[in-house]
Amino acid sequence: MKATITVLPGDGIGVEVTNQAMHVLSRISTQYGHDFTFHEALIGGIAIDKTGTSLPDETLAIAEQSDAILLGAVGGPKWSDPTAPVRPEQGLLKIRKHFELFANLRPVRAYPALSQHTPLRSELLENVDILFVRELTGGAYFGPRQEQGDGDSAYDTMLYSVPEVARVAHVAFRAAQGRRKQLTSVDKANVLASMRLWRRTVSEVHEDYGDVALDHVLVDACTMYLMTRPASFDVVLAENMFGDIITDEASVLAGSLGMLPSASIGAEKFGLYEPVHGSAPDIAGQGKANPTGTLLSAAMLLRYSLGLEAEAMALEQAVEAALASGARTADIAPRGGGFISTEEFTQTVIGAL
Ligand code: NAD
Repeated sequence: MKATITVLPGDGIGVEVTNQAMHVLSRISTQYGHDFTFHEALIGGIAIDKTGTSLPDETLAIAEQSDAILLGAVGGPKWSDPTAPVRPEQGLLKIRKHFELFANLRPVRAYPALSQHTPLRSELLENVDILFVRELTGGAYFGPRQEQGDGDSAYDTMLYSVPEVARVAHVAFRAAQGRRKQLTSVDKANVLASMRLWRRTVSEVHEDYGDVALDHVLVDACTMYLMTRPASFDVVLAENMFGDIITDEASVLAGSLGMLPSASIGAEKFGLYEPVHGSAPDIAGQGKANPTGTLLSAAMLLRYSLGLEAEAMALEQAVEAALASGARTADIAPRGGGFISTEEFTQTVIGAL
């Protein structure tokens, strides 16, 4: 198949990990007889430096002509002033909104070989395999707000409509149907009106999915259960801000932020794929970045935007094989043990393909 992929390396290690993902995707393209074209464009701090905006129109124009976006990470100390009028993360919020990418899928698995990198006892990590579905374009991050008033008060608004909740709930129920058929919806219905609407809507959508078991959990309890019984979750659905927080909490289950992929999808096949981690300025340019999160994001791109399930699975299995063979980047190396570079890790994955 012919496919065009927009690559937005962004800042810091984003550049290194997207570069490695392009190598792997090129290899898959050759191996399976596809024709993938990559178009690189600017986002984040580098875009601010070069164009004065974190998401230039040219980037959007390139992305609109493509089948999917692969993104590295944005941000860094140079652009970290929270009061600056132009900030790297504005580009991220804008691109998600522009393409109406309302559902963020974040799979989190615990790898037994990496259990020493998590603060949890290894028996708690057995069989942890969770798919988080986070609402991405609504709630307090996009609701009405007062940013500059008299300086003595400020507000954000958690605003949701029934269609906004229903469309992301459908994504979560469909995902559960393809997994262990269990959906946990996270809310704060005991306190927030918007979350009562959330709970009611998710329950209504449930009527279309009789084969999926649904339970509702308050977000505060959920943070506790994720640490005390993580293996009990299958698909977890949450609104934007709660999803932001609990997915970062759950990332400790995987042993390193560098292991985790994500997909942001909308109503069409088009999607944006990015590792969960940031630009990691502390290790940028040193060949220490773990490319796993980006490689697994590339696998999600193959699956959701290009419909190439066999290729996606082959890539996921190659990453597992590399880890099983003992390949370790610095972040997941045994204490006092050796590690290989970002590029060497990728070569091990390519060797396993
Ligand atoms: P971070 O995820 O960049 O790094 C946190 C820690 O994890 C660091 O010690 C880092 O070295 C390590 N780490 C992260 N990814 C790794 C990888 N692939 N391999 C090995 N180690 C890895 O978070 P931070 O330090 O809080 O933020 C740094 C910058 O990134 C900030 O400017 C922040 O705003 C930005 N950020 C961007 C995104 C994004 O683009 N989606 C997400 C989070 C943070």
